[in-house]
Amino acid sequence: RHVKSPIGLARLVMDVSPHVMLSGQGAEEFALEQGLEPVANRYFVTERRQRELAAALDASAGSFRESLMGTVGAVALDAAGDLAAATSTGGMTAKRWGRVGDSPVIGAGTYAANDCCAVSATGHGEYFIRAAVARDICARVQYTGASLAEAADAVVKGQLAEMGGEGGIIAIDPAGNLSLTFNTAGMYRASIDTRGRVYVAIFGDE
Ligand code: ASP
Repeated sequence: RHVKSPIGLARLVMDVSPHVMLSGQGAEEFALEQGLEPVANRYFVTERRQRELAAALDASAGSFRESLMGTVGAVALDAAGDLAAATSTGGMTAKRWGRVGDSPVIGAGTYAANDCCAVSATGHGEYFIRAAVARDICARVQYTGASLAEAADAVVKGQLAEMGGEGGIIAIDPAGNLSLTFNTAGMYRASIDTRGRVYVAIFGDE
């Protein structure tokens, strides 16, 4: 509620604590101990998100499409061959207080391991948790010899779509192959390689 950069804090949990995940008040206390300056909770309130919340609370308005627009993910392969994934989200609009989504759950909305791939997801988190999407994609690459694109499509357009789980993922493997795949009409996405070649797209056919 008061940490300006949750990913910066996650990095500190990884680097200077013996733990993998901290939540709630304990996480905030750890942030203060690490010298992160707290921000007022209203720092996170934006007019657009307030409008979306109001629309979501109005039963007559469909809210899910809008709620897909709040998550930011990144995956990277660095010069040393290390893979990394990060996912930052406000979660689903109008969720219940205390609800935990897929983004912080390692193996659901976020996963990285040097021997298979790095994945960051966006979409209806409950389904991503049930299907352990990020880990499942990596496991398919690791154990079945599928390419990253085959594994990601099988999970996102196959299993996840069949369950009714809307969303998509970005992923990269140790060879630098990418998958930016989704089962919705679009997903804001972009990539850049070592030569500076940039790809940017929103809908399916670009
Ligand atoms: N995956 C996020 C969640 O379920 C929502 C999103 O991607 O917009 O919390």
